[in-house]
Order: sequence, then structure tokens, then C-alpha cells
Amino acid sequence: MSYFEVADPRFATFIIPVCQLERLHTGMRWAEGPVYFPDSRQLLFSDIPNNRMLRWDEETGAVATFRFPSNHANGNTRDRQGRLVTCEHGARRVTRTEPDGGLTVLAERFEGRRLNSPNDVVVKSDGTVWFTDPPYGILTDYEGNKADSEIGRCNVYRLDPADGRLTLVADDFDKPNGLAFSPDETQLYIADSGRSHGAHLPHHIRRFAVSADNTLSGGEVFAQIDPGVPDGIRVDTGGHLWVSAGDGVHCYAPDGTRLGKILIPETVANITFGGPKRNRLFIAATTSLYAVYINARGAQTP
Ligand code: MG
Repeated sequence: MSYFEVADPRFATFIIPVCQLERLHTGMRWAEGPVYFPDSRQLLFSDIPNNRMLRWDEETGAVATFRFPSNHANGNTRDRQGRLVTCEHGARRVTRTEPDGGLTVLAERFEGRRLNSPNDVVVKSDGTVWFTDPPYGILTDYEGNKADSEIGRCNVYRLDPADGRLTLVADDFDKPNGLAFSPDETQLYIADSGRSHGAHLPHHIRRFAVSADNTLSGGEVFAQIDPGVPDGIRVDTGGHLWVSAGDGVHCYAPDGTRLGKILIPETVANITFGGPKRNRLFIAATTSLYAVYINARGAQTP
């Protein structure tokens, strides 16, 4: 139990006292992008500097290479047709893996200029693909390929797969990172992890209202994340946010109250709900993949 830190009595309802924090695998350099596939009971995740994606099998616990090279893949999700959608730092694009294993490029340029290095991605129930484009994959050769930004900004985009159109939805972030919709998709939470490159820079999550035509409004700061920066975000069926942070996973109520933390011994980059009941939180934390069952369910398959 010591790995749970309760800040609000509401958090205690999520804790299953007999349940342990498990370390499922280690040996990565920077684990990211966990995505669970209930049909095959496997979790795919990225190891960005090692230029690979790994596959953890829920039945056996075995881990194998899923994709190498992965073009320094970062965030992953699953679309409503069950296909893997991946942000590739190295190729500076977002791809979809088809049932036959082939890759379809969903986005690589905006108004003729190459994207920076897509970081994280979610798919809305209408099929639109939303992703962030900070520069982490072009700042060094460590987790991508060092290059100048062609766009000169770090934006958030929406792609409509029906016509391939890429639309700018937010242009006032320092380094937009993880993102997640509320269960009813009327709100979109987006992390700004700017503080990774300067103590004075943002380390918060903003909340936008999503209109029926998929435009965003609002964008107020929903929560400041300490220590570290917010990276990946997931939402449970009750609308609570589960946020990656420097000391673990932080849980926020929809009203912005921090309810508690799951303390993890390594910096957490991203999380996802999985397991057949979506009640197991998979945690990608630097060199290791952790998991813990909680008394909450992920709002959607990814
Ligand atoms: Mg990220």
C-alpha cells in the first residue's frame, strides 16, 4: 500500500489493498506509448532511444520486439477499427498499421512543412486523429534525428482520415505532450511539458471545450503538475484524470482537485488502461514497465 499516497478521501476508493505494484519488464532506455489490445491480450509500447517497440504478452508475461527500427516511435493508440496508430519521432510523422502489417502515413506535413516530431495521439469516436507536435525528437539524435523545426512552433493538430486534411487546433503551447478526451468527448485535456527545458516553463494540463464541429475553445490551466512534468494522460469512466509525473501517476478529479498519487520509483512518461476489464493501469516509466490493478476503469480502449 505504501506506493499509494492519498491526498483526498475520494482516492481511497480506487485502491485495492491486497494488490501489489508489479514491475513487468525492464531494460528500456525511455519507455513510452503503452497501448493495450484486448483481442490479443497484449500491450505494445515504445522504447524511444533504442528505436524499437516492444510487445508484452498478458498470458505469458513474455516480451518480444514488435518493431525495429521503429523510427523512434513515441506515443501510440488504437483507433476505433482496432488499428495501431503511432507517433514517429524519427520520421516526423503519424502512421497507422493496417491489418496486413503495412503502414499508412496519416500526417507528416502541415502547410507544406515537415512536422517537428509527433509525440502523443488519441482517436475520437468520430474517427478523427488528434496529436501533439513538440520538438523532442529533433532536439537531439538520442530520441530521433536532430534537425531544425520547419514549422517553428509546437502545435496540436486534428486529422480527418476521411479526406486526409490536417487542421491546426491549438498553437499557443510551449511543448504540447499527452492528451485525452473526457468520457463524453466534450472536453479535451492537453499537457504542456515545457519545463523539461527550463524551470520557468509550463508544467501543467490545460482543458479545452470541444464543439460539435471539433473546434476548441477555453484552454484554461486545469492543474499544475509537480514534481516533473505532465506527459501522458488517461481518463477513467468517472472522468478522473490519471497523469504521468516525475514521481509517479497523479490522479485528478474532474473539478481539478488532486486526489492522490501512485508512487513509482522511476519517472513516468505514459500510462494506459488495459486488461479485459480495463481496470489495470500500465505504467511506462523510464527503464521499466509497471502495472497495478485499481478500482476504476479506463474510459475507452486506448
Ligand atoms: Mg509524451
